[in-house]
Amino acid sequence: MDMKQKLQEIHEEAIQKIQQIDALDKLQEIRVSYLGKKGQLTSLLKGMKDVAKEERPVVGQMVHETQSQIEELLDRTKKRLEEVALNAKLEAEEIDVTLPAKKSKIGHRHPNMIALEEVENIFIGMGYEVVSGPEIEYDEYNFRKLNIPDGHPAKDEQDTFWITDEIVLRTQTSPCQARTMERGPLPIRMIAPGRVYRSDEVDATHSPCFNQVEGMVIDKNITMADLKGTLDEFAKQLFGPETKTKFRPHHFPFTEPSAEMDVSCFKCGGKGCRFCQGTGWIEILGCGMVHPDVLEMCGIDSKEYTGFALGMGLERIALLKYEIDDLRRLYENDVRFLKQF
Ligand SMILES: [Zn+2]
Repeated sequence: MDMKQKLQEIHEEAIQKIQQIDALDKLQEIRVSYLGKKGQLTSLLKGMKDVAKEERPVVGQMVHETQSQIEELLDRTKKRLEEVALNAKLEAEEIDVTLPAKKSKIGHRHPNMIALEEVENIFIGMGYEVVSGPEIEYDEYNFRKLNIPDGHPAKDEQDTFWITDEIVLRTQTSPCQARTMERGPLPIRMIAPGRVYRSDEVDATHSPCFNQVEGMVIDKNITMADLKGTLDEFAKQLFGPETKTKFRPHHFPFTEPSAEMDVSCFKCGGKGCRFCQGTGWIEILGCGMVHPDVLEMCGIDSKEYTGFALGMGLERIALLKYEIDDLRRLYENDVRFLKQF
């Protein structure tokens, strides 16, 4: 038989066979039988020696063309069969894509942290830096440098967790202020948020461990007017632009003069309601001008520099902002409760 005719026959037969294939595993069989070492096309090439010399290149070319056509058809068929197989698999597995996805539970910020971030952002916006310090402190920093000498009621064992005669769990974040004053440089604009400890029984308004945010400004010519202006702005940003502030004289050992600041009740606008116990005002924080003795004990010349300080309970802010009536709820870590905020 003529070589070209033979080639034509092999080609047609291959095409027919490939088109009839209905399973992937049969493809390889066909590939071997035509294109393999002992395959039909390969053996045809071996018969080239019987072809007239001048026709060899033409026939060789034809064999290669046939080869690549068969290869291409095999590849196409493979893709088609793979697709069919995948569709069959998907159908068999019966995935209902309309079913709701499994909810992944991601974390949630604690109301204390949300309130803290808000307080921090207000002060950062006014150019303050956020400072932290050790929770285990020396008596020196927790009391003496803050003008609380030995024998002061605040040092009473009732209130303070003593570790040794000289070391305590800090009862306030004020030691951060003493450390910042000592370290410098001046001027200082800082807030110090953090955990503090007092040996209180747990009840609706007390906990042996709670959070404070204290703040301090030390510079030349700082007056009570700076304190009032700063805290009034703080209150307006935290509780709304309508908020009014009121300063009542008070006493703290580390400030002179000292005051407590009330804000107008953000529930009733100052008319008086259950929330503010009918007074129209809510107590927010303590503040005052830094006592000259405190400045001197921390290495600052009190004739050249003055400053003010403030301190608030973070939990009190969170309870007020989110209208939570019991401090204990913040610590019970009941996710059903916490995720509301
Ligand atoms: Zn009210």
